[in-house]
Amino acid sequence: MNPVVLGIDIGGTRIATGLVTREGQVVSSLSASSRSVDGDAVATLKRVIQHMIGRASAHNCSVAGIGVGAPGMVDFKAGKLRADALKLQELADIPLRDLLEQEYGLPVVLDNDVNAMAMGEMLFGKAQGVNDFLYLALGTGVGGAIVTSGQLLRGTSGFAGEIGHATVQLDGRPCTCGSRGCLKAYAAGPHIVEQAQELQEEGRSSNPFPLQSAADVLLSARRGDPLAQQVVDRVAHALGAALGNLVNIFNPEMIVLGGSVAWGLEFCLDEVKRWAARYALSGAFQTVRIELSAFDKDTAFLGAAALFISDVGMNRTM
Ligand SMILES: [Zn+2]
Repeated sequence: MNPVVLGIDIGGTRIATGLVTREGQVVSSLSASSRSVDGDAVATLKRVIQHMIGRASAHNCSVAGIGVGAPGMVDFKAGKLRADALKLQELADIPLRDLLEQEYGLPVVLDNDVNAMAMGEMLFGKAQGVNDFLYLALGTGVGGAIVTSGQLLRGTSGFAGEIGHATVQLDGRPCTCGSRGCLKAYAAGPHIVEQAQELQEEGRSSNPFPLQSAADVLLSARRGDPLAQQVVDRVAHALGAALGNLVNIFNPEMIVLGGSVAWGLEFCLDEVKRWAARYALSGAFQTVRIELSAFDKDTAFLGAAALFISDVGMNRTM
């Protein structure tokens, strides 16, 4: 039997899961709805796990352990989603890791999806062979992970890497965290739409169609719409400032940008880098590479599998 890790990325609407070898080969994968039919999200998750364990046997593989990435605040030490896990209330505040370990008799590692993606980049993606790097996930929110000397920095109570709430504008736009001027308030998807709609309401657009999603705004900017370009200029400026700060604080070898907003910004990545260079110390900026992630939401289970491999390892378990 060939050893594999079951990687599971739990999203707000989808569970992406796959059987992954130590080398990052995907033996089998599945995407399922994370919405529970009967209001029992744990049962839904267990059904997916049971199905994938069956698939492993069919492929002559044995599951060595389970890595789980979940959105929002995860209490890594306790192995559960915090009570303020807004997207997945049904899974919040229950001892999910211990529960799954008991159910399947397998070691389980549970962390937030951004930390998982960082491990995915380190083992199988852009940051292979890189020991000091940062991962930023730009989507509905802005998440971050810090890897120093090959280890995730979790901080004293697990909040390390909350780069989305770095201040990029003193007393700037209001943020969902209650503060003002956070990176998230400029660069997260819903805030990108908000900024475009504000400019439209001010009558600065000849475009009669409202820009309803971040993808709309980013695509319109790429096509030359002046209002969308104005918003994207602001996003690039805010993101560049945050990256400049991160370069100065961590002196990383690489910064990997992932998530739907990051891919949508690909056409202006050079502008983001120009702003980052403006705010970073030149000596530190010279040695940093800023790259787009190798993975998307459908392959995020690779990060969850990498999380398990980097935390538990595969040799000891087999
Ligand atoms: Zn904030």
